[in-house]
Amino acid sequence: MKAKFLAYEEPLIFEISDEGKFAINLPEPDVPEEDLPDEIKRQDIPDFPQVSETEIVRHFTRLSQLNYCVDKGFYPLGSCTMKYNPKINEKIAGLEGFTDIHPLYPEDYVQGSLEVIYNLEKFLCEITGMDRFTAAPLAGAHGELTGMLIIRAYHISKGEERKKVLIPDSAHGTNPASAHLSGWVVEEIPSNDYGTVDIEKLKERVDETVSALMLTNPNTLGIFEKDIKLIAEILHSKGALLYMDGANLNALVGIAKVRDMGVDVVHTNLHKTFSTPHGGGGPGAGPVGVKEFLEPFLPVPRVEKNDGKYFFNWDKPKSIGRICGFYGNFLVLVKALAYILSLGYEGLRDTAKRAALNANYIRKKLEGLYHVPYKSPTLHEFVCSDKNLQGFSVTTLDVAKRLIDYGFHPPTIYFPLIVHGALMIEPTETESKRDLDLFVSAMIEIYKEAKENSEVLKSAPHITPVGRLDEVLAAKKPVLRWNRK
Ligand SMILES: *Cc1c(COP(=O)(O)O)cnc(C)c1O
Repeated sequence: MKAKFLAYEEPLIFEISDEGKFAINLPEPDVPEEDLPDEIKRQDIPDFPQVSETEIVRHFTRLSQLNYCVDKGFYPLGSCTMKYNPKINEKIAGLEGFTDIHPLYPEDYVQGSLEVIYNLEKFLCEITGMDRFTAAPLAGAHGELTGMLIIRAYHISKGEERKKVLIPDSAHGTNPASAHLSGWVVEEIPSNDYGTVDIEKLKERVDETVSALMLTNPNTLGIFEKDIKLIAEILHSKGALLYMDGANLNALVGIAKVRDMGVDVVHTNLHKTFSTPHGGGGPGAGPVGVKEFLEPFLPVPRVEKNDGKYFFNWDKPKSIGRICGFYGNFLVLVKALAYILSLGYEGLRDTAKRAALNANYIRKKLEGLYHVPYKSPTLHEFVCSDKNLQGFSVTTLDVAKRLIDYGFHPPTIYFPLIVHGALMIEPTETESKRDLDLFVSAMIEIYKEAKENSEVLKSAPHITPVGRLDEVLAAKKPVLRWNRK
């Protein structure tokens, strides 16, 4: 199937302007007109567009539709969990009781909202097995920073000066950035042929100068770190902690508890696993869970309960302090709680199962054509390399761009860095078999084209208003005007 869009060459609004057209039709005034002094009259705006109501509506509606989004089609962007988010959760987050409150209201006025935060933190404890959660961090990377600062405060409280954080070479780029920002020196740990942490190399590196290992599980290849308990033991034996990047919790929710893996600190991405649409920099949340011994270091204020009443506890002398204004992206927390409550335990568990089933379905259908470098079983996502494409002189980028012509958002490409020309595919649980099959047939079709007609890939995309851009130039010198031939 090929996508067929009614693709308009959308002009600038100034270009459809004609003298005298307007979008409103006000009644004649029923009071005498007054001539106002010139200094308070609006001056003419040069070239102010003059358009009709239909022209305005269509212009902006068409512009909005140039964006691809989950509500428009399949979005297999690996590592990002671009799942469909039930609209009911938006409705709930839009209830007046949540939107019409002010962060400076007295606690008595916002008991219900504090209860949302309190209960969400409790549910996240239940889901991950951790003892305490803070819902304050504003994103995954912010959760990492919070977690790293907690670990730092912990080591300092013990009078220990540790210098390093170890991070596997398959990690998300935010991991080394967060560790570095928290004042640690970052050391890379290589992966083995299985696609997981090389245990021997890890053992060599772990000593009393190491503060923590940041481990993504399942990792960015979609592979479960099966030695994670051993990894935790190796770290703990030298007084170091295990931080788990839990952005891929969609693969584990309801199935396995993070705590049972020996993890000391974990962050989750509510905007991946728990129903907040993301991309484009919209609000997210990266709650952080810890074991009891790290509780004193959690950011303030803590939402606590006393005699059936919720309150902000600021009295935490060992806390790392505030990490954001007020209490995080509150409406994201509301959506996550609504999602968790509506799915329940079985629903959440099905999420993880179906996410893994969908990813493996695509993997099995494609792995004869596209090269899958790591043969280990994968969960919610898998990664192909460009090995089989090289013979046809096309690149991963060409395949990604061609997918747009077939109506699909391309997968994540060239990440993780340990796979050459990576294509990282994560369908999520919310796709039907029909949509998965359409994607698979597009990928098969593109493979054939790569073999027989590589030009069509190299010049793709063909159906979009603009074709292949020079990406460096596009970022440095964006052309913001419509280029009419
Ligand atoms: C998405 C992601 C992050 C970062 O989360 P943000 O909310 O984008 O800051 C970190 N690690 C992994 C593995 C991720 O997939």
